Amino acid sequence: MNNENWIEAAGQAVMNTYSRFPVVLEKGEGVYVYDAAGKKYLDFVAGIAVNCLGHGHKGLTEAISAQAKEMIHVSNLYWTKPQMRLAKRLTDNSCFDKAFFCNSGAEAVEGALKMARKYAHKKNSGRYEIIAMENSFHGRTYGAVSATGQYKYQKELDPLLPGILHVPFNDIDALKNAVSSKTCAIMLEPIQGEGGVNPAKVEYLKTISELCTKEDILLIFDEVQCGAGRTGKLFAYDIFGVEPDIVAMAKGLAGGVPIGALLAKEAAAAAFAPGDHASTFGGNPLACAAANAVLDELLENDLLEHVQDVGKHLRQRLLNMQKKISVIEDVRGVGLLQGIQLTAEASAVVKKCMEAGLMILNAGTHVIRFVPPLIIQKEQIDEGLGILENVLESI
Ligand SMILES: *Cc1c(COP(=O)(O)O)cnc(C)c1O
Repeated sequence: MNNENWIEAAGQAVMNTYSRFPVVLEKGEGVYVYDAAGKKYLDFVAGIAVNCLGHGHKGLTEAISAQAKEMIHVSNLYWTKPQMRLAKRLTDNSCFDKAFFCNSGAEAVEGALKMARKYAHKKNSGRYEIIAMENSFHGRTYGAVSATGQYKYQKELDPLLPGILHVPFNDIDALKNAVSSKTCAIMLEPIQGEGGVNPAKVEYLKTISELCTKEDILLIFDEVQCGAGRTGKLFAYDIFGVEPDIVAMAKGLAGGVPIGALLAKEAAAAAFAPGDHASTFGGNPLACAAANAVLDELLENDLLEHVQDVGKHLRQRLLNMQKKISVIEDVRGVGLLQGIQLTAEASAVVKKCMEAGLMILNAGTHVIRFVPPLIIQKEQIDEGLGILENVLESI
């Protein structure tokens, strides 16, 4: 059966929450994927910044199958070596002291919101408000969608979680005006992903960090998209030289096996006592073994240096394209999280690229987002940009 036959036969049974491309993807190999008709695509989407080691990676698939043979899951009522090892490696290689594992980005954000409110309650500080950013994206669960600063994700869901304020991103005066004796946390993406690939200004983050320290407000970074090596550093906060109290991670952390992580400094983490927060699947041995295989590449096999190198190449190529092609208004991003702002609709470009064998992503209506597998080579970047350039020239 080809793509259309499959979709006709069974597509109706899938809930209608995505507008999907009319392709059924079957197999992947490195930075390429194949659909049910055997058509090959260069994958610049990587499952939305998830498949950091591409498809069919030897180390990752071997780690998963070896762990599956030992045990896939046990309750968090018991210790497991893969989870302890992952927590130790993440905290040893960051400013954080403790890790909690869950299954997705939204869940990691939920954990951060709960931790912030618990922290304030334990101090009897009367603080409960969380300040988040306009244009942000934090996920689809109720707390996360309430924190998300884009109305399109919130409409018809009200009443939302109370006590969340939104201010314009990168505007320090607006933030200072919003901070009050009720503020318990400030949450932001150091590089907004979904909202259009907007990096924070270094000075902005430094000022926020000082303000948080002074007022005993927790600083939460949502690094679900920009963390886990995507910027060329294990954590995006390292790029900016600003340490948050709490970070939310997910997407690329286990290379495609569902995982989320909440990392926190001791003072914030101490807000949680046994019974305060939990997840049945969170940090199970299978997901943690996969994440450990990803960390092997990032920390021990020079993948971070590779991301810095190919990220520079991607950026330079995009800047060169901008000089030639007038629909490109702006190029922005860090490492292998880059975006180009277009004067044209991004969705039309994405569709034409797909037809030409390049899977690429938008971020909002006018930004094309680049989040390829971290293992991508320069020639493969050039191959994809060749396709994109033809498409952009044709519109
Ligand atoms: C994708 C994303 C989320 C939500 O992650 P899910 O795994 O889809 O719940 C949260 N924050 C950011 C920054 C994201 O990019």
